[in-house]
Amino acid sequence: MQDDRKTLDDRNKMTDLERLRHSCAHVMANAILRLWPDAQFAAGPPVENGFYYDVDLQHRITPEDFAAIEAEMKKEIKANHTFEKIVVTREQAIKDSESGRLGGLGERPGNPSKFKLGNLEAIPDGEPITYFKSGDFIDLCAGPHVMRTGNIGAYKLTSVASAYYKGDEKNPQLQRIYGTAFKNKTELEAYFNMLEEAKRRDHRKIGQEMGLYTIDADFTGPGLPLWLPKGGAILEELERLAKETEFAAGYVRVKTPHLAKERMYKTSGHLPYYAESMFPAISLLEEQDRARNEQLTRRKFAIADELLKFKNQEATASPEQVKELERESVAIALEQDGLGERYYLKAMNCPHHHRIFAAEPRSYRDLPLRLAEYGTCYRYEQSGELFGLMRVRSLNMNDAHIYCTPEQFAPEFNAVNEMYLKYFKIFGVEKYVMRFSTHSQEGLGKKYVNEPELWLQTENMVRDVLKSSGINYVEVPNEAAFYGPKIDVQVWSVIGREFTLATNQVDFAVPRKFGLVYRGKDNSDKTPLCIHRAPLGTHERFIGFLIEHYAGNFPLWLAPEQVRVLTIGEEEPLVNYAKAIVQELRAHMVRAEGDYSNDKINGKIQQAEQAKVHTMLVIGPRDMAANAVSVRVHGKGSLGAKPKTEVVAEILQAIRERRP
Ligand SMILES: [Zn+2]
Ligand SMILES: [Zn+2]
Repeated sequence: MQDDRKTLDDRNKMTDLERLRHSCAHVMANAILRLWPDAQFAAGPPVENGFYYDVDLQHRITPEDFAAIEAEMKKEIKANHTFEKIVVTREQAIKDSESGRLGGLGERPGNPSKFKLGNLEAIPDGEPITYFKSGDFIDLCAGPHVMRTGNIGAYKLTSVASAYYKGDEKNPQLQRIYGTAFKNKTELEAYFNMLEEAKRRDHRKIGQEMGLYTIDADFTGPGLPLWLPKGGAILEELERLAKETEFAAGYVRVKTPHLAKERMYKTSGHLPYYAESMFPAISLLEEQDRARNEQLTRRKFAIADELLKFKNQEATASPEQVKELERESVAIALEQDGLGERYYLKAMNCPHHHRIFAAEPRSYRDLPLRLAEYGTCYRYEQSGELFGLMRVRSLNMNDAHIYCTPEQFAPEFNAVNEMYLKYFKIFGVEKYVMRFSTHSQEGLGKKYVNEPELWLQTENMVRDVLKSSGINYVEVPNEAAFYGPKIDVQVWSVIGREFTLATNQVDFAVPRKFGLVYRGKDNSDKTPLCIHRAPLGTHERFIGFLIEHYAGNFPLWLAPEQVRVLTIGEEEPLVNYAKAIVQELRAHMVRAEGDYSNDKINGKIQQAEQAKVHTMLVIGPRDMAANAVSVRVHGKGSLGAKPKTEVVAEILQAIRERRP
């Protein structure tokens, strides 16, 4: 439930910005009451990019009202009221709710603070009940806030939605007023500029303009992107990067099918725990099953016939005989249900890789074993959740599983982190954080596999590596995966928008479920640790991120069309010279095209610019005579004429180095 009450512990973890935004919600409530004194407030927490307050009010608030509300807020902030904390008894709080005083500017006879009364009931016995008073406004609230209303530097209301009280549709519907707040005006403006820029860089818009991918909801299905040739080129480059990097780091590549028997996912635990994120089963009857199935179906109909005859009194039977037939048809139904096999599209690659580990006997000498694959997974996302390339139902994952001994864990995990940093550098990601999620003791045996020792051991190993490698990380208690600690990698695009790209997990439970063992030095069987890692995430999400990050202006090595050779005119010798350059580049796997038409050169350049071609080589008779080309780079303009051989060598080098 989204309106789950925050515990005091959660509240203590609120960041400064969250405190400021929540405080701003108080100020907004105050302002709304000045305009509409009958307003009743429910909950007003900080959220990802701001805050909201749920309000019950006759008047329908629209964005046209925002200016008036903001003007009232300004007065409250200017008055610089303190947020005064008042501890009260439950009796007092009930009394004040009934008089309409809570979430109000004064007593409101006949208009009790009904939602505050409901909130009060959710406060456990023994927990202090507190008010916060700023100016005339008193709210039932556990805090925390900023010291004074004047600390709220800049704010803006953003939207209105509707929401049920406590997120329960049986409860009344309220108006949810959203806003955001920052320490100062500069930060507020930067935030809205970033949103504007993100809109211009929307991956769905640029993806379509550039012809990178399409989603054919009618034939292929929603959430199942089709990569067009230009998107396919980017995808190939990313795979090449991963393959080279992983090869150098000692990975080996495997290839696995897109589906597997039910047994696989029952063993991994995906069934039943992950069932709602998987596509439904495909039931398959093999030949021998089909014969048996037909036999059973015939017998089922025969029994139905007989029972009907008895019922219509066309034949007689004892009650025992009838019972026996009914028993038999139940047995048939059960047998038919168990016939054949159920297959599932894979939602993750790990189980397949585990079976590859199990396919051959392994000794400690074979470890670490690093199995890599760009594996396609299928996840059933609700149709309302689907969003461009960011939320899809088919995913190409930059996956690998590292099987290792506990002694090998630290260097292996460290190498994974190094790989991330290498990728960040290539893609110009300057800001990132690794969110290290750990278990909680209370959750053992419920949310987390019941292995208290292993939890502490692996978490310590992960923490040690993170600390000693100087990686930027935060620790988040009680958010681990079921079978081990995990690390979510968050990156910021060049315009400052945050993306969760990839997850690393340490798994000490599932290898055991699959019975994976290696022969140790002491000749006994041991269970390996498994590190799940996918630094480039999925093609879908990563390319979605890259489109925004580069605004579609990909660096040369990634650009779908890397080079276009443009002739000034269409004289045959000139065209032949241009074609030879295209051919030379293509022989080196450069995605080069030619535009040899008789159109005006400025028009041809404009077209290439629009298509976001990275490098344009413009050729006129004078260039040809000098065995030269005139270079233009998208977004940078003309770089002048240079010898052809130099330009070709330069292009090849920039691609090889994956220059940003
Ligand atoms: Zn508050
Ligand atoms: Zn995995």
